[in-house]
Amino acid sequence: MANKSKFQAIRGTRDLLPPETALWNHVEQTAHAVFATFGFGEIRLPIFETTELFARSIGIETDVVSKEMYTFYDRPSEEQASKIFEMPPKTLTSGGEFIERKEKEAFQRYQSGESTTLRPEATASVCRAYIEHNMQQLSQPVKLYYMGPMFRRERPQKGRYRQFYQIGAEVLGGADTPAIDAEVIEMVMTFFDRLELTGIELDINSIGHNAPDCRPAYVQKLKAALEKVKDQLGADSQRRIETNPLRVLDSKLENEQPIIATLPRIADHLCDECKAHYAAVKRQLELRGVFFKENWRLVRGLDYYMRTTFEVTAQGLGSQNAVCGGGRYDGLVELLGGPPTKGIGFAIGEDRLILSLQEIGKGAAPQGRDVYIAWMGEHAYAAAVRAAKDLRRAGFSVELPPTESKFGKALERADKLRSRYALILGDNEVSEGLWTLKTLADGSQQKFTEPELLEYLRKQKALSS
Ligand code: AMP
Repeated sequence: MANKSKFQAIRGTRDLLPPETALWNHVEQTAHAVFATFGFGEIRLPIFETTELFARSIGIETDVVSKEMYTFYDRPSEEQASKIFEMPPKTLTSGGEFIERKEKEAFQRYQSGESTTLRPEATASVCRAYIEHNMQQLSQPVKLYYMGPMFRRERPQKGRYRQFYQIGAEVLGGADTPAIDAEVIEMVMTFFDRLELTGIELDINSIGHNAPDCRPAYVQKLKAALEKVKDQLGADSQRRIETNPLRVLDSKLENEQPIIATLPRIADHLCDECKAHYAAVKRQLELRGVFFKENWRLVRGLDYYMRTTFEVTAQGLGSQNAVCGGGRYDGLVELLGGPPTKGIGFAIGEDRLILSLQEIGKGAAPQGRDVYIAWMGEHAYAAAVRAAKDLRRAGFSVELPPTESKFGKALERADKLRSRYALILGDNEVSEGLWTLKTLADGSQQKFTEPELLEYLRKQKALSS
């Protein structure tokens, strides 16, 4: 007997349904519109890339790469498959161990560079594309934005999914002028403002750069200070003292907060150039009327991140309250095999942005219809089809029921669908050439000829928009 158990979306993934999808579309259209006014062009990227791209750019010690990526071996090509098949059942690897054929297949695919990963973020892909398409030859900087799904195998909770959506932008090439940092941040805040997202906070920081007299000297001091309080820290923070002391500052553990408050702060250890850059970014933000809060604990744990970091948090999201994270990453393109290239960008978590908009009552209302066509009779049906076509061409949303029903029933359905008008078309109306339009809110009725009707609806629409 066939197994008829029902399917469910995989944990951490979800369907986005109407009317909520209208809000998603609104958010995305706003991003297209706002980013275009800042001169950004859209880049559409593949959903999967070679694993190495993410391992190298995000860093193999990060949680994202070490624990959260959806990685799989792509099918080998026929040629590769035949080679695997030809191999004897047991093979000696370069490491000197014998492995069975199944493991060997995986090993071979891994060796032939086919380890593939669903993208956990898109900055690496944008940089890869910049290099691959020689964008350094275009007028610099190149300003790109993207939107789409990302994949991380995190523990799902409110605001945290395994398939989630980001809207992000990157500025690549040109100079590292503070005005660019400020303009990127201004663009994010303009976007949120255009969406009327209230109750948000912008935090900024500078994490210096990777020269001996700047961040590395600070990290040494931080490490020494952390060693002294090691016993009072949790296991994660203790481990990070060795692997990545800056990340200790990220800790959200209640009992670690008073200890962290006593640690040395990077702002007191920036080199002169980074200090000047940070001061200029702040001045530039003020010039643009962008409010911010300095947060010395806002760090990025990878070497190629430098100077400006920023984050936007929103209300009503519980612990997952960051809706946008960004920063400068001047070393990344080079790390991926390209020429030395300045870079700065951000990623907005669209799922959280939508949740936050809904929290403050900016959710989407169910979509109604402008006109519901209540028709009865064969002649009326022909006129109804024609009217639907004309009205839709003029931009009205129209419900044309596929089967005839009594007017009373039709009007009930028109109401249920939140229609503004019902167009009543019986054979009488058609032979008279006068169509009845009922306004559902007050029950009033008016008669129109076919051309008058379109004219009237157009005028009403113009009045109400
Ligand atoms: P990141 O790429 O980690 O800097 O994240 C940038 C933004 O993406 C965050 O501020 C979140 O808003 C969002 N984000 C990251 N991971 C998730 C997730 N698993 N589910 C939903 N949103 C996420």
